[in-house]
Amino acid sequence: MRGVVLHAPGDIRVEERAEPSIVEPTDAVLRVVATCVCGSDLWPYRGVEEVRDAPMGHEYVGVVEDIGPEVRTVGVGDFVVGSFWASDNTCEICRAGYQSHCVNRVLMGSIGTQAPLARIPLADGTLVATPKMPDEELIPSLLAASDVLGTGWFGAVAAEAGPGRTVAVVGDGAVGLLAVLAARRLGAERVVAMSRHADRQALAREFGATDIVEERGDEGVARVKELTDGLGAHSVVEAVGTQQSMTQAIRSTRPGGHVGFVGVGHGVSLPGEELFFSGVHLHGGPAPVRRFLPELVRLIWDREIDPGRVFDLTLPLDRAAEGYRAMDERRAIKTLLTV
Ligand SMILES: [Zn+2]
Repeated sequence: MRGVVLHAPGDIRVEERAEPSIVEPTDAVLRVVATCVCGSDLWPYRGVEEVRDAPMGHEYVGVVEDIGPEVRTVGVGDFVVGSFWASDNTCEICRAGYQSHCVNRVLMGSIGTQAPLARIPLADGTLVATPKMPDEELIPSLLAASDVLGTGWFGAVAAEAGPGRTVAVVGDGAVGLLAVLAARRLGAERVVAMSRHADRQALAREFGATDIVEERGDEGVARVKELTDGLGAHSVVEAVGTQQSMTQAIRSTRPGGHVGFVGVGHGVSLPGEELFFSGVHLHGGPAPVRRFLPELVRLIWDREIDPGRVFDLTLPLDRAAEGYRAMDERRAIKTLLTV
């Protein structure tokens, strides 16, 4: 089969890869219908993370093609969505809602779902089936649930977005934009999107942002404070992963408030003294998307939310390199790859 491989920074190729098959009795093999390029794929693409000859991709929706003898809850022919971590959904950590830290977890990025077929470990725990085959128009939104929607949702939950709260979102990539959507769905009164790109600001407003702040760093912090009687937001979602964005998120949060950080941190260090005196809660990390998937699939199925709007470029899998380049150059928010 033809699959996406990152040979070296900037060098994406679609080339022949071995077809997956059932290895463990709890595996499924998925015929991928749609996959996509993640903001986190850009870290190795840009050479910030070391990588060589790696199969790429960890977001996916598709139809179950084959199952191992111990798979019970999904069957051949089911249309399914899964998270970027495979998880058993039964261990103590999973049952507490932290499936991204499952004791048996497998990172789907190590398998590489930018391909026509993918092995899904721990299929019963990982996959959520839709009620029936989805209409074509729902596929981008279901694909978004696999990572960016679930991650934005977790960011908003970790930041304790809710009724009566002002939520600020640092980062206007797909995760940040969907954190805006999540914060509104969770009942936040006011949602401040921090973005300096007109197209992303427009989408943030469609997703429910009430205010836009274009400034970054301490100027951005000052603007958030101006909007909140000098106090800072109750809840701040950090969806970038840099020193500047993390510092901006912490400083934009009022004492007693919550930061939900879901940007994969690169080179971020936090000064203990500032943290001590900030009085904020910090919670984040790789999102336990599986916790939210059943509800997110229902909201999409019932057409209550349309997170697939973040895909502004669709390409066939064979043209994946163009999709990476467009995201790297910020010409596209997110690239969907059809298989
Ligand atoms: Zn588990």
